Amino acid sequence: MKPQARVRTEVREQDPGSALLSFIERIKRSEKFGGDVVFVDTVPAREASYAELSAPLPPALELALRDQGIDSLYSHQAEAIDRIRSGEDVLTVTPTASGKSLVYLLPTLETALSRPGSRALYLFPYKALAQDQLQGMTALAAAAARHGGVVPGLDGLPGTGRPVTAAIYDGDTPDSRRRKIKAEPPDIVITNPDMLHLGILAHHRDWRLLFENLACVVVDELHVYRGIFGSHLHHVLRRLLRVAEHYGSRPRFIASSATIANPGGLGEALTGRRFSVVDRNGAPRAARHLMFLNPGSSPYTAATQLFAWSLDEGYRAIAFTKARKITELLHSWLLQASTRYTGRVSAYRSGYLPEERREIERRLFDGSLQGVISTSALELGVDIGGLDVCLLVGYPGSVVSTWQRIGRVGREDRPSLTVLIAMPDALDQYFMAHPGDLLKRGFEEVVFDPDNPVIARAHLLCAGAELPLEETRDREVYGRLFSLVHDLEREGTLARDAEGSRWFTLRRRPQRDVFLRSIGATYSIVDEQAGRVIGTIDAVRAFHQTHTGAVYLHHGQQYLVRELEIEARRISVIPADIEYYTEVRGEKETEILEVLREKRDSGIDVRLGRILVTERLTGYEKRRLFGRDRLGLFDLDLPPLTFETVGLWITLPDAIRDRIVAGEGHFMGGIHALEHAMISLFPLLAICDRGDIGGISYPQHPQIGRSAIFIYDGYPGGVGLAARGFEEMADLLRRTVALLRACPCDAGCPSCIQSPKCGNGNNPLDKRAAIDIAGFLLEAGTATEDAGAGRPALRMAPRAVTMPRPVTPPRAAPIRLMGGGTENEPLPTPVRRGAGGSVPGREVTLFLDVETQKSAEEVGGWQNIPDMKLALAVTYNAISSQFKTYHEKDVERLLLDLVMADRVIGYNIDRFDMSVLKGYTQLDLSRVHTFDLLADIYRKLGFRLKLGDLAEATLGIGKSADGLQSLKWWKEGRVDLIEQYCRRDVEVTRDVYLFGNRNGYVLYRDRDGKQLRLPVEWK
Ligand SMILES: [Zn+2]
Ligand SMILES: [Zn+2]
Repeated sequence: MKPQARVRTEVREQDPGSALLSFIERIKRSEKFGGDVVFVDTVPAREASYAELSAPLPPALELALRDQGIDSLYSHQAEAIDRIRSGEDVLTVTPTASGKSLVYLLPTLETALSRPGSRALYLFPYKALAQDQLQGMTALAAAAARHGGVVPGLDGLPGTGRPVTAAIYDGDTPDSRRRKIKAEPPDIVITNPDMLHLGILAHHRDWRLLFENLACVVVDELHVYRGIFGSHLHHVLRRLLRVAEHYGSRPRFIASSATIANPGGLGEALTGRRFSVVDRNGAPRAARHLMFLNPGSSPYTAATQLFAWSLDEGYRAIAFTKARKITELLHSWLLQASTRYTGRVSAYRSGYLPEERREIERRLFDGSLQGVISTSALELGVDIGGLDVCLLVGYPGSVVSTWQRIGRVGREDRPSLTVLIAMPDALDQYFMAHPGDLLKRGFEEVVFDPDNPVIARAHLLCAGAELPLEETRDREVYGRLFSLVHDLEREGTLARDAEGSRWFTLRRRPQRDVFLRSIGATYSIVDEQAGRVIGTIDAVRAFHQTHTGAVYLHHGQQYLVRELEIEARRISVIPADIEYYTEVRGEKETEILEVLREKRDSGIDVRLGRILVTERLTGYEKRRLFGRDRLGLFDLDLPPLTFETVGLWITLPDAIRDRIVAGEGHFMGGIHALEHAMISLFPLLAICDRGDIGGISYPQHPQIGRSAIFIYDGYPGGVGLAARGFEEMADLLRRTVALLRACPCDAGCPSCIQSPKCGNGNNPLDKRAAIDIAGFLLEAGTATEDAGAGRPALRMAPRAVTMPRPVTPPRAAPIRLMGGGTENEPLPTPVRRGAGGSVPGREVTLFLDVETQKSAEEVGGWQNIPDMKLALAVTYNAISSQFKTYHEKDVERLLLDLVMADRVIGYNIDRFDMSVLKGYTQLDLSRVHTFDLLADIYRKLGFRLKLGDLAEATLGIGKSADGLQSLKWWKEGRVDLIEQYCRRDVEVTRDVYLFGNRNGYVLYRDRDGKQLRLPVEWK
């Protein structure tokens, strides 16, 4: 944290305001740039607004602030702190450098001092931010301690107190330090969501002191939690509150966010708490000048020249680029231009060592660096001091991000200039044509999907491993997602306890399989040269970005993919320096599974639903990095990629197609172009990258029966983008028409309808037809005349699975067999049925158990089961309720009975009993329709359960003996005892089966002896 009522670091001789204005004038009049300046505007200066707290801070904190040069608080700080002190969950929405960290530092320090033992947890999305905040925190705590603001010692004697403590617990924290932090957590624990998930929640018993006393959770930079990351954080915070509640605490939230359209809504969606939002910024600000430049030639050349000019004028400058490669390129061009820049400018990006980055930040702050060229890495956090000029080399992708970057230059006493240099991309060109939109239309929403079932399932398993999932508590916590618990139970990943009201996760530490920045099956990316894993990637992105032969960008570094191994989920790469990039080609289709919402918006029929996307990637293109020329097309051999997600679709009345065709337009080219253009403008609605969304255009969709354009979330389960597009469809379409009309090209270009990610290589595309189609759609009348046919019935395929799948109810008992069954009640229809001749409802089910003469050891191992020889077999006929015993001499009779039965049920029957019998016959025993209970259990549990253990847990009875005992009896000639034992096993098998059949589960004990339910569908 840096002082906010700052001392002037440098006084220009000339009035800084007029100097900058004259610089702007010279740019506008210059031969080089003058013609390319499309827009200039100024956001006027604003005076600081201060306010008093409604109750003063403790004197020690007041004095500590004064030590740091802070005499009074800005109005937004005072307002937020007042509300926090009154117990509200507070969200501060302010731009960069407005002193937002004081908003959480002061209340948490105050609480630490006034309620010794209470704890606060700070969550920062990035490590660098955590480092910065630790320094600010420690400095303020030390200053407070100097003025007597200490946490009293145990005995409460004067002079025994200590300053408020804080420590970072993240991936870089050494083990020894971790143990210490866990055993005795500092007053403030600083971490990130990943570590909270993996290191803290997963081991919450080690963190008892933290959770028992957790008073406050600080969530900084709320706006970065979008899409997949947002869904994950949402669940991590739910788990955090669950665990805290378990230890008896209910922490308050203090959050902060950059300015976005929906801060309160995002905060509530992420945390489940309704926030008190403070968004009236009281920090002062000098005038901000903005200029839009649409260069006729290369935007990079323009950027380099303008950067050099700014430096030559004595300004301190930062340029933001969109890629590491460009960052390095601009830096080297600048150094080539003149030696006078040597040592005065630096590049900055992720991928540099943390020490290097800290050093650059420090030199920027103290002014020894005059300029920096950076990727988005410098957009957030760390104070880099007073810069004057900001070049945005390409539209940063969102209005939110644009203002964050603009906020990196200028100060209260320093006016600033930001120049947006447009690229030939659709969004850039849209803003060049509509500059007011960037300044006045405000900010995008940040969206994620709290109901993404894929992510919810993963976190339910984590939650169930942390504390058992309980009907009473967790149905309230998880709402309708709680029904997923039953799915997970059926799949055998969660198990229910014997009472039936609590679920446990069977896998240990399921948290290790959940990565907060990706979804579903995860592939590891392995750098073959360094021999280490450099990252992970989800299946959808793996196929698109890391197929064999792809050039993959990781933290700006290029890697060439050697091999994508699907089975092993492994991607081998080597670092490379390549002049081309790769794009996949292929085809895709979508099936509508379920319509979630539908509406008619300005005459447009739009629907939102669950869809199944199938992509067949058939090849990839290599294209030159600069210029994008195609270098070649290469084949790919990949299985189809299928995933379920959320999508929106608009249906087009046949009348529109007829009109396009009548006008000699290319209808398919028109809807395809419209789809591209709409996707390119999607970032106007919610923060996203073009790659987060997919699209498919149909001249005739098989289920809808007419033409449709689909736009869907490019992640399994959905990320909330299509849902946002559904809400704003008419608006999106209007903006799309504006984009297309404003683009001066004839047949389409990368600034309007061409997509760098088109799987069809931008073919066919018809810009004119796209404009006409959108125009017709927006003429409300057009669609109305077609209104009758506007809602065609969907043709859902029968397998259009209704989600979530219905819970199997416990089965009513169709028969009672235990303790003298009634003879004539049939067993339910068997799953597998004899080849005919059986009377429906009277199917013969036999339960079978076999004892042998020899042990596996005696015949040379389990592979020789047929040599073990039959000692005795017992069957139980479920229709006649009769047991039957077969000795070795009766084996033919036994085999015949088995073949004749409709079903033979046994425990380990497939692997053992039938193998023993195989030694006696040439008969094809595959004709015996067995149902092996153990095989079914093994499929679900992943390990083999002994019949005795299963019976003990399920029925509360044990087996009478075991196989070894039986072998001994054989040698002693006690066939009578073997018969008793074998019969008993048949009974147990039968009763376990009937229990599962009736209740839909059986019981077993886990390693800790806990009784768990195993769901079964034994019919
Ligand atoms: Zn164009
Ligand atoms: Zn396309």
